[in-house]
Amino acid sequence: MPEEIARLMGLQGIDRQLQELEQTLATIAGNVEGLREENERNQAELQRLVEEDQQNSAARKKAEKELAEGEARIRNKRMRLNLVRTDKELQALTHEVEALKDTNLRLESEVLALTEAGDPRSARIKELGEAIAKGRAALAEGEKEIATQVESLKSSIAEKRRERDEAAAQIQPTLLQRYNTLFTRRQGTAVALAKGGTCMGCRRLLPPQLFNEVQKHLQIHFCPNCQRILYYEDKPAPETT
Ligand SMILES: [Zn+2]
Repeated sequence: MPEEIARLMGLQGIDRQLQELEQTLATIAGNVEGLREENERNQAELQRLVEEDQQNSAARKKAEKELAEGEARIRNKRMRLNLVRTDKELQALTHEVEALKDTNLRLESEVLALTEAGDPRSARIKELGEAIAKGRAALAEGEKEIATQVESLKSSIAEKRRERDEAAAQIQPTLLQRYNTLFTRRQGTAVALAKGGTCMGCRRLLPPQLFNEVQKHLQIHFCPNCQRILYYEDKPAPETT
């Protein structure tokens, strides 16, 4: 295998390890991020419910006040009933009392409805309060727990990057550029084995002449289909693509 290919294979190995480390870091950070988001959602719901509860309380107090005023008015009118002289006055006053009673009935059911609506909300507010407290503790715990892992992953990544830079410096810049593009666009396989006349990167048959050339190791060849850098192993070896 030509030296250049061996260097590229080495680089590909390092790049794959680097990718794996970065994915692990993202996953670990993502778990804590999930806890954080859940807490924020709970917090937002709590705030909305507390506001709703305050509005509900204000509406109930207002209805209760109107109800009390209505009752006072009814008492007042009933007292006046004893003083009326004419049937007409009696009729009018009775009518007014009936109207006030209707209004009060409506206010009573309003107060009842507002009180009943408050119950499940209070329960949910309590539940959310507890969930938030638990969530905060879990988040703090999670952050503490991953801190060491994150720290160690970050230093492994930094170390791997230095290793990568050294390996990359050994490769001819144009070829390196091509490798970099391929590694990203071809899901981490920029260098592919040519085996039995086939590119193992894309599983397409290579032109026979090209496959012959690849076997000679005289220069670097690329797959005409997937553009990957091709290499050939003289002795059968475990597939590495
Ligand atoms: Zn190919």
